[in-house]
Amino acid sequence: MQSNTKIGITTTVPVEIILASGAIPVDINNIFITDVDPGNLVDKAEKAGFPQNTCSWIKGLYQTIISQNIEKVLSPVWGDCSNSFALSEILSECGIEVIEFQYPFDRNIKRLKESFKELYDRFDVSEKDVLKKHDDLQKVRKELKTIDDLTIKGNISGKDNHIYLVSSSDFEGNPDLFLKKIKNRPNIIKKESDDNHRIGIIGVPPIFTNFFDVLEELGFSVVYNEIPAEFSMIKSLDKGFYEKYLEYSYPYGMRFRLHTIKKEIKRRRLKGIIHYTQCFCYRQIEDILLRKNIDIPILTIEGDRPCEIDSRSRMRLENFWELL
Ligand code: SF4
Repeated sequence: MQSNTKIGITTTVPVEIILASGAIPVDINNIFITDVDPGNLVDKAEKAGFPQNTCSWIKGLYQTIISQNIEKVLSPVWGDCSNSFALSEILSECGIEVIEFQYPFDRNIKRLKESFKELYDRFDVSEKDVLKKHDDLQKVRKELKTIDDLTIKGNISGKDNHIYLVSSSDFEGNPDLFLKKIKNRPNIIKKESDDNHRIGIIGVPPIFTNFFDVLEELGFSVVYNEIPAEFSMIKSLDKGFYEKYLEYSYPYGMRFRLHTIKKEIKRRRLKGIIHYTQCFCYRQIEDILLRKNIDIPILTIEGDRPCEIDSRSRMRLENFWELL
């Protein structure tokens, strides 16, 4: 792989492989949602033929890849999103090189290694280079763990926690600069702790542009962002490279994710959960499993297009605050 080639990623992938090759990982989700007008990107994707009843993240990903002239994309076709396969086919049709791999649904380490080793060939790297890169990233992940611990104590807001952890999918393209940036974070806050409103956000990243601002305004303390915490791989820093990607729960279904969620409810002393679901996403069905297995109050909030939170959802959040 040519040095400095941009590799678009659509979710958490073994980023160590991209970095070991000298290429630059670019998380397309983050570019899409921080665009000045993400709604316009969704509109454009619909004009290009994407159906209205398709998840807006998928449409945003497609249009961002096209608009940013990304030429190569690394995408899991199993273990991420049921729409990824069709998106990969469309991107290939547009002349974009799509490098596919799979997370094995049975979490079999042999199959995970085989899948990753195929990528070593595609990226022209050795296993030794990749393991070295994994070791180099430990210092960044340690700092992210510190950030997450400070969030539990109430010293870093749920919004900042979300931004820092979600950025760890690609380390903003440069782990060293990213580490400097997060070490120089300006946002240590001291606030009255409100134990009754300690909540966790479960599910795919919310598409609402002011989601965390509204939660803070209403008086919730977000002390757990499930999926961003998974992206950052900070649960067991001492685990090896392959083991980290087996422990990372997102690709392996809700029944596996529930083990972590239950542990974190206790550890973070959560009083409630907001389950964010995305319109037209197959993961909405997982709400059934969450409700069957979790015994603290759950509010399910659905978003569709990237925009501010609607008044009905806001009212439901207000009621949930009262309930807690
Ligand atoms: S929200 Fe669901 S459908 Fe949309 S990209 Fe994510 S996993 Fe796929």
